Amino acid sequence: MLISNELKDRNSDLCELCNAEPATHAYAVSPKNDDSIENQVALCSTCLNTLDKADAGFHWRCLEGSIWNPQPSVQALTYRLLQKYKAEDWANNLINSVDIDENIIQWAMSAFEVPDVHTDAFGNVLESGDTVVLTEQLNVKGTSFSASKGTVVKKIKLVHDNHEQIEGKINDQTIVILTKFVKKSL
Ligand SMILES: [Zn+2]
Repeated sequence: MLISNELKDRNSDLCELCNAEPATHAYAVSPKNDDSIENQVALCSTCLNTLDKADAGFHWRCLEGSIWNPQPSVQALTYRLLQKYKAEDWANNLINSVDIDENIIQWAMSAFEVPDVHTDAFGNVLESGDTVVLTEQLNVKGTSFSASKGTVVKKIKLVHDNHEQIEGKINDQTIVILTKFVKKSL
């Protein structure tokens, strides 16, 4: 996105991450959009092009400076980028040494969240109370219990903290079933 003068002024025409090269792009930090410069970070073309690169830890040492930028958008993007390098000491130390507002951390981490929905083997969204059909024979570890492919399981329950699991009753036993082995009965 083209950079506005207002955004440029925020860091004296310089990139808000590396603070070295002229800012030429406005980058909206997802999930926010370009509605306001509060959502944007002024970037130089080097930083912009490095955003999606792996193994760019050398370049991103500049985050040691940008993490102290007072703008929430700059902090959020910096914190997000640091997550990619937290296996490296410099990034890990930085994450642990800064005191960042909880809302900004949430903004930063939103990029890594997996959608909180249960889906069957075909991508259909599952809900508690649905009826599903097993697409594979199911053997429950450590027991002689098995259910053949095609078994109908009524009134499933979603496992709250694991979107790959549901619970259902087969032969009066409640068992955990992996969502990738079921098809929603429509
Ligand atoms: Zn830069």
